[in-house]
Amino acid sequence: MSCLVVKSGGRRGFADVSAELSRVRPDLEVVAWDDAALDPARVDYAFVWSPEPGGLARFSNLKVIFSSAAGVDHITRDPDWPRHVPIVRMGAADTARQMCDFVLWAALSLLRDARRYAVQQSEARWNRPGDPARMAHETRVGIMGLGNLGADVSRHLAHAGFAVSGWSRTAKQIDGVTCHAGPEGLEQFLPTCDILVCLLPDTEHTRGLIDGALLRRLRAPAGFINVGRGPQVVEADLLAALDDGTIGGAVLDVFCEEPLPSNSPFWSHPKVMVTPHIASEASFTARAAYVGALIDRFEAGDTDLPLRYDADAGY
Ligand code: NDP
Repeated sequence: MSCLVVKSGGRRGFADVSAELSRVRPDLEVVAWDDAALDPARVDYAFVWSPEPGGLARFSNLKVIFSSAAGVDHITRDPDWPRHVPIVRMGAADTARQMCDFVLWAALSLLRDARRYAVQQSEARWNRPGDPARMAHETRVGIMGLGNLGADVSRHLAHAGFAVSGWSRTAKQIDGVTCHAGPEGLEQFLPTCDILVCLLPDTEHTRGLIDGALLRRLRAPAGFINVGRGPQVVEADLLAALDDGTIGGAVLDVFCEEPLPSNSPFWSHPKVMVTPHIASEASFTARAAYVGALIDRFEAGDTDLPLRYDADAGY
């Protein structure tokens, strides 16, 4: 019998994961990460969110690490993670669907000044703008990152009527989306964007990428949506760009420090909507079903699992 150890971040995570896995894989032994009776040498698979440093290294016979999230930075920040074991990123169908809904909501909120009207409502102030609102088809959304999530998000926004561009490391072709790639592509991409969406992974190449100089290349006053990772943005530069009108509004779901400290200027900024890293969170049932299906594939001899972390690329 194969053995899967689970470390989940959620309140009901372990119970939900083991219930679903017992349903789809009754022959799999599912054990909690902190089970005192666990024999580390028996563990074949690990399904983890933010394992403590050294935690994964104790499993000497580990075959696959399943990340409970689309990002893997919560695993690779452990200096001792076992580098010979493949990491598979979360790709449950819910993950992309939820991200599509969130980014569409955020883009429409920026387009229709949702934050401004929320502030006005809190002050019982009836203030109508002089000009009619801009429409989706007149607005170009640029998506940085056209991977598992970004490609679906770009199609979703195009379907909703936005003009959509995207930028990635390697060239892509997506129907209805103008795709750019690499450093040269970035130069062409940025000046076309009315709203910029960050859906990049956290790597040494993306950290600090979104700074004041990059934000000034957008079509001001631009909207900005960050659903990638906080460290990709130089937060002081973003605040300055909000204050000088380079950025007209932002929806921020991820931050350099999470939870966002109570004294962060983002909380009360009149142009900023803050959400607590909830853009996409597949149910534990969906995540468990995804992991169960991949274990089936792996045990049937298909070791080339999808969405594998590539250490050279850093994501
Ligand atoms: P993928 O790895 O599938 O896609 C990453 C995309 O970023 C790819 O298109 C890749 O290019 C591009 N990219 C990476 N590095 C560079 C670079 N240096 N220059 C240009 N493009 C680059 O990731 P996912 O789509 O699954 O997820 C993206 C990120 O979203 C996650 O890493 C995570 O940080 C974040 N996320 C946030 C959530 C939230 O709730 N806020 C939930 C889930 C994910 P290429 O296609 O050429 O490889």
